[in-house]
Amino acid sequence: MSLISKFDPWHSALCTCPPKLTFNPYTGCDHHCIYCYASSYIPRFFNCRPKKDLIPKLKKEAAKLKGEIISIANSSDPYPNVEAETGLTRKCLEILSCSNCRIQIITKSTLVTRDIDLLTKVPSMVSVTITTDDNALAKLIEPHAPPPSKRLKTIEELLARDIPVSVRIDPIIPFLNDDPQTLIKNLADIGIKHVTASTYKTKPGNWQRLSTAFPKTAEKLKPLYFQKGEKISRYSYLPKDFRHKIMNTIRIATEKRGIRFGTCRENLSHLNTATCDGSWLLSKTNNTKS
Ligand code: SF4
Repeated sequence: MSLISKFDPWHSALCTCPPKLTFNPYTGCDHHCIYCYASSYIPRFFNCRPKKDLIPKLKKEAAKLKGEIISIANSSDPYPNVEAETGLTRKCLEILSCSNCRIQIITKSTLVTRDIDLLTKVPSMVSVTITTDDNALAKLIEPHAPPPSKRLKTIEELLARDIPVSVRIDPIIPFLNDDPQTLIKNLADIGIKHVTASTYKTKPGNWQRLSTAFPKTAEKLKPLYFQKGEKISRYSYLPKDFRHKIMNTIRIATEKRGIRFGTCRENLSHLNTATCDGSWLLSKTNNTKS
């Protein structure tokens, strides 16, 4: 099985991403986000482990690249906590930064700044997920990921080194983190030009974790997801008009501050004001290979 594969998020008919490839250095992730979708598909998900034969396989596959965008990563975070010791993602970036590709890192970790030297060798961008600017709330919903205040500092450091950054406000869970107005203002103030947003979709595993952590919120969400909502690609979604209201509020807030906006797997792509995943920022990058 190839390490680098076509990006096809769980065969979602609602994905509006441009053609790109995807690559996960690790199987699983140790950030323990309660809403994590990938944990529904991958056994022992929170036991994060490196891919088998990672480095030799990547060397072979990277030699065949022809300038494609590689999104790292979509079924795990490329900077789990173990990465600080293993340095495996760094070794992968050492290989990819000498290959013919463009890199889109997706992470919640501050550790990405360690690899700025490699990300400046090829066209690269980083998409940092910030679901809330409330450190205490983030500790409950993303218990082992760095706090959002530190992620904001990470973004500033990346931008200062001319690495384009988009922010994912994803997922938005009604009654918990559905008012990101202050966050959007703060993002605009530090120079963010693209935001991607998406509402929480339930799967049995993530619903169980959310119900345990936030029983009162789960009671309020239950009828919205399981009676009035829609079932799309084995996920339970909020009702479409409710999703539209949340997404449109964010679109208006971003537009007001000169930030481009994209929805993710919402069936609301008419609200997008740019390529949904922020990959348009790659064309603005200055860090082209010499
Ligand atoms: S960082 Fe991403 S992959 Fe890791 S637990 Fe959180 S949602 Fe899942």
